[in-house]
Amino acid sequence: MTTVLSVAAELYPIIKTGGLADVTGALPAALAAEGVMIRSLLPGYPAALAALTAATPVLDLPDLAGGPARLLAGTAAGLAVLVLDAPHLYARPGNPYLGPDGRDWPDNPIRFAALSQVAALLGRGAVPTLRPDVIHAHDWQAGLVPALLHYHGGPRPGTVMTVHNLAFPGKAPSAMLADLFLPPHAFAIDGVEFFGAISLLKAGLQFADRITTVSPTYAAEIQTQDHGMGFDGLLRRRAADLSGILNGIDTTVWNPATDPLLATRYSTPEGRTPNKAALQRELGLAEDPAMPLFAVVSRLTDQKGIDILLACLPALPGQLALLGTGERDLEAAFRAARSPHVAPMIGYDEGHAHRIQAGADILLVPSRFEPCGLTQLYALRYGAVPLVARVGGLADTVIDANPAALAAGVATGFQFAPLTPETLAAALRQAAARYAEPATWRRLQTNGMAADVSWRAPARAYAALYRSLA
Ligand code: ADP
Repeated sequence: MTTVLSVAAELYPIIKTGGLADVTGALPAALAAEGVMIRSLLPGYPAALAALTAATPVLDLPDLAGGPARLLAGTAAGLAVLVLDAPHLYARPGNPYLGPDGRDWPDNPIRFAALSQVAALLGRGAVPTLRPDVIHAHDWQAGLVPALLHYHGGPRPGTVMTVHNLAFPGKAPSAMLADLFLPPHAFAIDGVEFFGAISLLKAGLQFADRITTVSPTYAAEIQTQDHGMGFDGLLRRRAADLSGILNGIDTTVWNPATDPLLATRYSTPEGRTPNKAALQRELGLAEDPAMPLFAVVSRLTDQKGIDILLACLPALPGQLALLGTGERDLEAAFRAARSPHVAPMIGYDEGHAHRIQAGADILLVPSRFEPCGLTQLYALRYGAVPLVARVGGLADTVIDANPAALAAGVATGFQFAPLTPETLAAALRQAAARYAEPATWRRLQTNGMAADVSWRAPARAYAALYRSLA
């Protein structure tokens, strides 16, 4: 049995702001089937401490980044977890990164460096019964783990750094070096220095044994200047250790046949009809089955290309349901765009997210870049046809309804490129035209619903990677 310590700032269903949580929450069960035991290390947010059961203290740290801390081992939501109880760092309600003013907590680098430091201690055997074969670090919040193991020396486990989104470098001022448990010589170009500051993500990319990202296309894109966010040189140098493993989805949480959040459960496209009617009613849209219902479930940020969709709204060939939160100006623009055809819901709501996937006809993902993307995978499983920008994981998971794919009967959705208001508008029109062809549409839906978007194949790939390092 290979044992893995997973280190991340989010873990579904305990704490989630995006796809990262879905992935770290799903991997333990998926990997158990492959003979890998994953334990997840998580900051002691109020939500994490509240979810923890059968907790035993396993490590006392009288002074960790300016205060006392202890590590609690137990289970939470059925997952084996280690929760770092450090009130001076984590006893803050709500969002894991943002204060009440909507800004990042200024000590975020230190909060997550403390988490990484504890992971590194465990990696070196601080608690002998919890010594992992491999540490899997997710995104910048865990990026210091491979660096700390490197700089502090001694025997260490294998390390994997997974990039869920390269757009978050985890920057800290150089003056914080010692607070991040790093020695002075770490501040160098072949260390953690990144354009005059420290990047916690770079620390991971530099020193992890293997780097993965969440789709093969994104793994290639991030080695280019266009998508490399300043890391492309480093990533090209590490190309032999870099690979893409697509995300799966939790097919028990996201199963239209058993989903408790739906008014009507279903397993064929026909079963979606009452869900569409209910969604239209709920949103105050005309209850018209012939009207294509487009939808978005997304963070409202520049990455997601939502501003391009705004530009297309006047000529939208159907209705739009939008669920999202994010940048204030995008939220305001969608609120202002409300019309008989456009129903914005500004907020974060799991129930709405499920009901939209079950009721909408077309799920839009017009991202500027997309490491993997999960919402198009949920859409496939729920029979909402995805319409996506041809980038990153979107390119890898949707089969475009071009004439050849339609003739072969394999298409599952629509892709377009490059991302402009004109190309998106054309794709919207194309989708609406296909929607008016019931046989074509049903084929798109059944192909999508039959696609394997589970964790089975990705879990096998991670298991092989872990074993190669254990
Ligand atoms: P990212 O991680 O970049 O935000 P993904 O597509 O990988 O994008 O994952 C987004 C996840 O967050 C999905 O599970 C999606 O359903 C969920 N989500 C995003 N916005 C909302 C919202 N406003 N309400 C509910 N769920 C949301």
